[in-house]
Amino acid sequence: MSLNLTDVTLTYPDGDSRLTALDDVTLTVPKGSLTAVVGPSGSGKSSLLAVAATLITPDSGTVTVDGTSTTGMTRAELTGLRRHTIGIVFQQPNLLPSLTAVEQLQVMARIDGRSAARARGRAMELLDAVGLADQAHRRPHQLSGGQRQRVNIARALMNDPVLLLVDEPTSALDHERGAAVIALITRLTHERATATVLVTHDRAHLAAADRIADVRDGRLSLPTPTPTPTPMTPPTPTPTPMTTPTPTDTPTPTA
Ligand code: ADP
Ligand code: MG
Repeated sequence: MSLNLTDVTLTYPDGDSRLTALDDVTLTVPKGSLTAVVGPSGSGKSSLLAVAATLITPDSGTVTVDGTSTTGMTRAELTGLRRHTIGIVFQQPNLLPSLTAVEQLQVMARIDGRSAARARGRAMELLDAVGLADQAHRRPHQLSGGQRQRVNIARALMNDPVLLLVDEPTSALDHERGAAVIALITRLTHERATATVLVTHDRAHLAAADRIADVRDGRLSLPTPTPTPTPMTPPTPTPTPMTTPTPTDTPTPTA
C-alpha cells in the first residue's frame, strides 16, 4: 500500500475554538490506482492532500507513505521523503515565468543533485509522456492553460514518485481540456504505478477513477466495497423428484 491514512483528525485554530477540517479519516490507496476525492468547497479536500503530502501533521492519526510511517519524523526526514516519493500537483501550476517547459522540470532534478544530462533526458521523456515534446522550449505565457497544467503534472513526476497527489487540476480549464487532463492523470497512474489521489469538486470526467470517495465536513466516506465474488460453486444437484415407483409393465420374460 503506497498511502495509508488511519484515523486522521486535523483541526485549525478558529477564533477561540478549533475547526475540524478532517474528522477521523481512514484511507488506503494502492500503487497503480486512482482514488478520486470529491466534495464541496471547504469540505477538507486540500487539507487531506496536505496531510497525505506530509506538509501538515495531523492532530492525531497516522500517515504511512510507501510503507514508512511518518510519525515522529523530523522536518528534514519529511522533506527527504517528499522529495523522493511524493509528487504534488497543486491547483495552480506555479510555473516559473522565465523558464521553458523543459527547464521547469530540470529544476526539480537539480534540487535533488542529479546530473544535468540525466535530468534533461528525464524531463524530455516526461514532456513526451504528457504530449508536450514539441512545446519543450516554450515559456509559460506561450502555453495554453491545459498545456501549463500538463507541464505541472510532468514536473510532479520528475522524481518518479510512488504517491501522486493532485488538487483540482481542472478548475481553470474548460470541459474538454479538463477531460484530457483527467485522462492523462489516469493513464500515468496506471503506466507509472503511482498511488494517485485526485481531488476535485465535480464528478465530471471521473468514470476512469478506480474509486470515488466523498468528503463532507471533513468526513470521508468510501463506496461500500463491492462484495467479493462468491466462488463458482458446482450447481447443487436438483433433487430428484420423489417418484412413485411405476409398476413395471415390462412383461416378465417368460421362462
Ligand atoms: P477544500 O479543499 O475542500 O475546499 P480545505 O481543506 O481547503 O477544503 O478547507 C477545509 C476547512 O478548513 C474549511 O472550512 C477551511 O476554511 C478551513 N481551513 C483550511 N485551511 C485553513 C487554515 N490554514 N487555517 C484555518 N482554517 C483553514
Ligand atoms: Mg481545496
